[in-house]
Amino acid sequence: MNTRNNDILTDSNGRVHSYLRISLTDKCNLRCTYCMPANGILVTPKEHLMTADEIYTIAKQFVSLGVYKIRLTGGEPFVRKDFPRILEKLSSLPIEIGITTNGILADRFLSLLKKNSIKTITISIDTLHKTKFQKITRRNEFDKVWKTIQLYQNEGFIVKLNIVLIKNFNDNEIIDFISLTKDKNIIIRFIEFMPFDGNQWNSDKLVSQKEIIDTVNYVYPLQLQKIADTPNDTAKNYKIEGHQGSFAIISSVTNPFCDTCNRIRITADGKLKNCLFSSEEFSLLTPLRANQSITPVIKAALHYKHTTRGGMDTELKLQNSDLHSKNRSMISIGG
Ligand code: SAM
Ligand code: SF4
Repeated sequence: MNTRNNDILTDSNGRVHSYLRISLTDKCNLRCTYCMPANGILVTPKEHLMTADEIYTIAKQFVSLGVYKIRLTGGEPFVRKDFPRILEKLSSLPIEIGITTNGILADRFLSLLKKNSIKTITISIDTLHKTKFQKITRRNEFDKVWKTIQLYQNEGFIVKLNIVLIKNFNDNEIIDFISLTKDKNIIIRFIEFMPFDGNQWNSDKLVSQKEIIDTVNYVYPLQLQKIADTPNDTAKNYKIEGHQGSFAIISSVTNPFCDTCNRIRITADGKLKNCLFSSEEFSLLTPLRANQSITPVIKAALHYKHTTRGGMDTELKLQNSDLHSKNRSMISIGG
């Protein structure tokens, strides 16, 4: 890692930001209820989106400051027509690249990912049942996604599955998902449902880290093992003794990992967000298009980063839907 300029990526709490998540688009071919508001969103006009070259220029600047990991997300990153060009350009940088996808188009990009040395793919799938899949995503694409998961596994990728747990919807599938790890080296990641604009969040729908662990402990009282976490990782890792794969819990709501946060995000329209939960945004595209340095903007964004959950540091603030509506919906932030 380049430590020479690393202080620019260090915030007022001493947290060093080495992991950049870039949203490529706010368009998507699914309509997940917890992500996309029921009435949809106004998609960003093309001229306001970062171009492939702008994404590369911005990423290169972050890498020179000390970023060594970049995740491509969205919306759905694979709906971007110039995805191959974006990936190929970013692959020339000395970074680890991750991709989070809903899996609908991912089969078409298998050889491109291989060619660019991508070995891990994160695919979101919230249920193992076709009808429930249609209910949560508002699209009938379960078979396609399931087939793609098999494809990537058979092709030797490390496959991680993201599952947003929602009370009385899919919390009865926790053990079914964990059963997938028995004979396959797959990584299941249960994500606590987070509040964003238009996603009808309330704490009754939340399935907490504690509830997940209690459920697993009930079925596997002696076999549940805590395994090592990677530094700064938001996922806390576990496995069932004897299973090939593992599972993780991302407890952004009940047990946030803000004190070790190393993440910073860029929306598809080139706004820097210092926290997923924060409504504050810092435009990178404006100075970039005016041929000015983006470093002061990066500095400012890090300077104003809140200590905890973008300023929602109390239970009361977390429950306040006005604060959720100040932020964008998840689809236009980039997960
Ligand atoms: N379309 C891609 C996908 O679905 O994987 C990438 C973008 S999506 C916004 C990234 C991740 O955010 C997904 O795993 C999704 O399940 C998760 N996500 C979306 N809304 C969420 C919410 N309200 N709470 C927790 N996770 C959420
Ligand atoms: Fe699209 Fe992913 Fe959001 Fe679902 S979670 S609507 S797939 S961006």
